[in-house]
Amino acid sequence: MPAENVGEARTGSRYARQEVLGVIGRAGQEALGGSTVLVVGCGALGSTQAELLARAGVGRLILVDRDVLELSNLQRQALFDEEDVRRRRPKAVAAARRLRAVNSDIDIEDVVTDVNWANVAELFGPADLVMDGTDNIETRYLLNDAAVKAGKPWIYGGVLGIDGTVMAVRPGRGPCLRCIFPASPDTYRLPTCETVGVLNTAVAWVAALQVTEALKLLVHDKTAEFKLHVLDVWHGRTRSIAVNRDESCPCCAHRRFEFAEPGATHPASD
Ligand SMILES: [Zn+2]
Repeated sequence: MPAENVGEARTGSRYARQEVLGVIGRAGQEALGGSTVLVVGCGALGSTQAELLARAGVGRLILVDRDVLELSNLQRQALFDEEDVRRRRPKAVAAARRLRAVNSDIDIEDVVTDVNWANVAELFGPADLVMDGTDNIETRYLLNDAAVKAGKPWIYGGVLGIDGTVMAVRPGRGPCLRCIFPASPDTYRLPTCETVGVLNTAVAWVAALQVTEALKLLVHDKTAEFKLHVLDVWHGRTRSIAVNRDESCPCCAHRRFEFAEPGATHPASD
């Protein structure tokens, strides 16, 4: 059956396993179909998030990444293959190409660019929610500033070695990233996956938890709780910590958005 007919013939059953879930239901599925999600970074975390969101039926995905694929990406970036590397496809383009074949019922846009202070507001424009698929704290502060400024939720996720951290930032309803991780000069000298390494199962776990937090928000689950999750996949340890807003936070309390202002610099997302 041609791909376009699969979409038509199977529309009723594609999300059957999700619609019977009490936490989602038909109404939740419809809400997902009407949602737009911006995925910033299409590396390890972002490509995994994009796949889960596409398969879950989020109606419109905007995938942003400036990099082209390299062989060392394939260890943990399950959406891509050797042909993508050989052709030096941009990650955003390769991810969108693959996911259009997975789900032709949804809209998927690819944007090959670096996310910075100059374009972040425009990229956030159509999004109901933003996923963190980046690999550096400066870009996360930029996303945090842009999200708090726009009053839109974003899902922070970090992974390094065998460890991960996840938190849904809901402006006006909970702490922002800078409430929990204040910026300091040392912040920029954190170890990276390039030097420390990263386990692909840690990536999958963090991305899955990020997408779960996103789905809770997109289906408007009023009973959902949101905490800071700290994971160690190797030893099977998780901690979920209730966190509060910092009343002196420069970003969400004083609304100073220094990372989203002209001249702010940061490295590119992965
Ligand atoms: Zn804050």
